[in-house]
Amino acid sequence: MTDLTSRALGAVIGSAVGDALGAPFEFGPEGAFSARFPHPGHGGEMCGGGGWEPGEATDDTQMAVLVAESLLEHGGLELPDVFHRFRRWAAADPKDIGLQTEAVLSGGDPWDLAAALHFQTSQRAAGNGALMRAAPSAVFFAPQGRESTMDAARRLSALTHGDRAAWEGTAILHELIRTALTGADPLAALPAALAAVHPDHRERYATVLAPDWHPDRATEFNGAVWPCLGSAVWALRTTSSYEEAVRAAIDLGGDTDTVAAVTGGLAGAVHGVEAVPAPWTEALHVPLPGFGERVLRAPELAGLARQLLG
Ligand SMILES: [Mg+2]
Repeated sequence: MTDLTSRALGAVIGSAVGDALGAPFEFGPEGAFSARFPHPGHGGEMCGGGGWEPGEATDDTQMAVLVAESLLEHGGLELPDVFHRFRRWAAADPKDIGLQTEAVLSGGDPWDLAAALHFQTSQRAAGNGALMRAAPSAVFFAPQGRESTMDAARRLSALTHGDRAAWEGTAILHELIRTALTGADPLAALPAALAAVHPDHRERYATVLAPDWHPDRATEFNGAVWPCLGSAVWALRTTSSYEEAVRAAIDLGGDTDTVAAVTGGLAGAVHGVEAVPAPWTEALHVPLPGFGERVLRAPELAGLARQLLG
């Protein structure tokens, strides 16, 4: 396997594993993961709970798979198709779905207006729900360079999130994964990524992505896009392995599946798929409500990642 393949598989599988690992700890307190599993590498961490089977991925990965399959079937970005896949999935009553995502997908409005209309009335659409599904599109658009990758990220975000803050955060994450796929350090790419962010949103992202920022300094719950991205970058910056990074992410508490999915996608792209503990990938499975009885496991996710690389 080439380094690029390993990093692409690391992004896609690493994100899914983080999602499944974090799901049982959602809305729990800080430190709950390491209180239960004090020693890294011990095993048994894919424990299930809170309605989740051991290794069962949640909406984060389900939506990421829908994006991946649309990109592959159309050979590019076909936004109405992605939206209709999301809507079909949402109508099949998935176990978990974000509040903003559900409101947008179940409202019956057309694909190009639904998120904007929801934002107009709610004024709340800066959740982390577009960030969590970024890995496949980051892999797919990476060869096209920074501008195209960030542009695609914004368009995919806008399907469910009307607030430009969510678009910009998702664009930054795509750029960080794209950088990692090249073998370069995504932390070193932060200044260039921030320079490409819409000026209205740059300062707020510069704050949560600064080297001295800590998740304790978050001014919102980590279900919001800024602290979620900031926490993932913090987890990457302060650890030296995939396992340590996702442990740190889950130990933050709160929206643990998504913070760990974002962290896992980034850390997987940096450290490669070999760094994802095998017992975790072996337990991983991704049901796909609305699409028959399909359940994807790690080999199918690896197949998607390879195809996304082209
Ligand atoms: Mg979830």
